[in-house]
Amino acid sequence: MATLETLNFDNSYTRLPEHFYQRVNPVPLKQPFLIALNSDIARLLDLDPASLNPYDLAQCFSGNRLLPGSEPVAMKYTGHQFGVYNPDLGDGRGLLLGEVVNRDNQRWDLHLKGSGKTVYSRFADGRAVLRSSIREYLASVAMQGLGIPTTQALALIGSEELAMRDGMMEPCAALLRVTQSHIRFGHFEHFYYSKQHDDLKRLADYCLVRYFPQFLNAGQPYLCMYREVVTRSAELVAKWQAYGFVHGVLNTDNMSIIGETFDYGPYSFMDQYKPNMVSNQNDHRGRYAFNKQPDMVHWNLSALGQALSSLVDQDELLAELNRFPDLYQSFEIAEFRKRLGLQSELSEDSALVAQLLKMFSNQALDMNRFFRALSEFDYQEGESDKLEDLVSNKTELKNWLSAYKKRLEKEVASYPIRSAQMKSVNPEYILRNYMAQEAINLAADGDFSLIEELIELLRNPGIKNNKMHHYAASPPSWAGSICLTCSS
Ligand code: AMP
Ligand code: MG
Repeated sequence: MATLETLNFDNSYTRLPEHFYQRVNPVPLKQPFLIALNSDIARLLDLDPASLNPYDLAQCFSGNRLLPGSEPVAMKYTGHQFGVYNPDLGDGRGLLLGEVVNRDNQRWDLHLKGSGKTVYSRFADGRAVLRSSIREYLASVAMQGLGIPTTQALALIGSEELAMRDGMMEPCAALLRVTQSHIRFGHFEHFYYSKQHDDLKRLADYCLVRYFPQFLNAGQPYLCMYREVVTRSAELVAKWQAYGFVHGVLNTDNMSIIGETFDYGPYSFMDQYKPNMVSNQNDHRGRYAFNKQPDMVHWNLSALGQALSSLVDQDELLAELNRFPDLYQSFEIAEFRKRLGLQSELSEDSALVAQLLKMFSNQALDMNRFFRALSEFDYQEGESDKLEDLVSNKTELKNWLSAYKKRLEKEVASYPIRSAQMKSVNPEYILRNYMAQEAINLAADGDFSLIEELIELLRNPGIKNNKMHHYAASPPSWAGSICLTCSS
């Protein structure tokens, strides 16, 4: 096992030309303290969680002490924000501390979010506040627990330092983000729009070696890479749609090249299914509404395709991009088949799902509670009380259930087998905004206990937790009044 001092750093990104980034040390955070440590992620880095002490963790992951082997850099990228190209982006409040290669030869980026100003900070302070850092920490675990690709977080560090947000002073925090890639679509856009085509090729080669080595010897490696990014992104957004997840800020600088959910800001899991739900109050035109996410990911992929057009023939890129709508649909139906317990693939399934989503929308249902209850619906017994309790229009439910029953008759699996399979994908608990808000409210009074408890709950969201079972119930009425913005 490694210690913080002997982490196996090997920083491939810093071997790229110096203008790919700015070398800069973190600005120390005042009186840092450890709030939470994710043991699973510690082990991923070959760290023994039991050997780590809170003081050292707080020093190292607040940027106050540099780890041996770490070479902090702020990455340069640009991107389209709300559809408008912004050439001035880059890591304005985060630093890539370096890459750790573990015993299984996996390479993990360690990125410190909230690490102080860089040349890309523009007018802002380089910090992250506690509220948004708690939300990102919880979301990483919740998404992982649902099997949705996501960045991870090793540690959450609190501080006595304050920052101004929306006219109020708030405590600062730092989050140590861990993932195999911090390369965003916007990294490619930077080199494309600044006409640095050799560097664009360098970046693409870097990605091929590190993330897509299977294409290195292909006839057209860059095209294969793009094809893979299109596929992964389609699968990712299909999962978001299947679980009612609204990202909130789907700008191209928040799109990961390896297809993970990246950069948690004003996200939500919908308590009530409202297709045009906008999670970010600053998104006045609803560009990133729930039902627009597939189109927005498609749009972002077209921006990436444009950026790759000096490397690959544009018509060939376009042909790959045009696969997106069908790909998305096939991933989406696959997700819903799992949630409905359907093993066989019949063409009629699309209509069944469409009818279900229409009912969710007509009655603003809680889709995640519905699917959990449906996992315990034995159609041969005909008991649908639990489902009826969740809806307001019982006739609409009965109509849908009769179509669902007919469909289930074509399945071979027996009820117990189907129910177990459904429960494995239909969680008892989902990270609702009010749960994160409760943890944030307690944290404001210095009580961080709920963060760890929620992490335990969300790591295995399908397993009943007697102590925390109230989180399986309907959210409290104040949940609807939570207001989320870009401010973080
Ligand atoms: P985000 O909205 O978090 O995706 O950030 C968009 C851009 O603004 C990125 O380039 C960030 O680095 C930068 N940014 C966001 N908040 C801050 C901050 N407090 N200080 C400096 N840069 C920031
Ligand atoms: Mg971002």
